[in-house]
Amino acid sequence: MAGVRLLNLTKHYKRGSEVIKALDGVTLDIDRGEFVAVIGRSGSGKTTMLDLLGLLLKPTAGNLVIDDVETTTLSDRERAHMRGRKVGFVFQEYNLLSGLNVYENVMLPQRYVKDGAEGKQRALELIDRVGLSDRIKHKPSELSGGQMQRVAIARSMVNKPSLILLDEPTGAVDTETAQQLVDLLKRLNREDQVTIVLVTHDLDIASQASRHIRLKDGRVLSDERVAEAVPV
Ligand code: ADP
Ligand code: MG
Repeated sequence: MAGVRLLNLTKHYKRGSEVIKALDGVTLDIDRGEFVAVIGRSGSGKTTMLDLLGLLLKPTAGNLVIDDVETTTLSDRERAHMRGRKVGFVFQEYNLLSGLNVYENVMLPQRYVKDGAEGKQRALELIDRVGLSDRIKHKPSELSGGQMQRVAIARSMVNKPSLILLDEPTGAVDTETAQQLVDLLKRLNREDQVTIVLVTHDLDIASQASRHIRLKDGRVLSDERVAEAVPV
């Protein structure tokens, strides 16, 4: 089954004699093509869950299956390879490289996954789809916040991931830019059948996803699928 399966997924941190249960035994399935919003207060485990899904963190216990591959037994090298192939990240600060232009930033993940001419073609196509064809040689400092965000989205998709993870991407932009981002995500979700997991504290944004998972103290407090997500 294409998709992501979390089985008792757990991340505990020890600080002295204290155990911090950042993620405390989460079990759920995310199907290919779902658009999931993860909500919850600060400290509820949202970033921990996202970083586990993106293979940036190793769980303390439990299992994580991505597209039928059990990831917890993979070597570091295999994890890195899977991350490069399967996962696209969009961080709150976008993490664009200031010395590189739009095209070069979008191509960055192709350093690890070389698709040659096809990768270049895909980068150009994505830059067009996010509406930045006329900014292709601009550096990040010459772009608005919303434009930088769209570069980050294009970059997250250049390796054709099956999963895109976004950690509070609308935290630093105005409401209109945030809505444009969500419209773009909805379109990519529909056109490419890419699974999206979006962490947000913005309930207007979250309400547009097709599923809402609410975390509290590292556990799933509620998990609701919305019958029909509103089309763009
Ligand atoms: P959220 O993203 O929902 O704000 P986090 O996943 O960042 O929450 O954190 C969940 C809990 O785990 C918090 O109590 C946080 O302080 C703790 N935590 C996160 N990362 C670490 C770490 N590296 N070491 C110790 N505690 C951590
Ligand atoms: Mg967080």
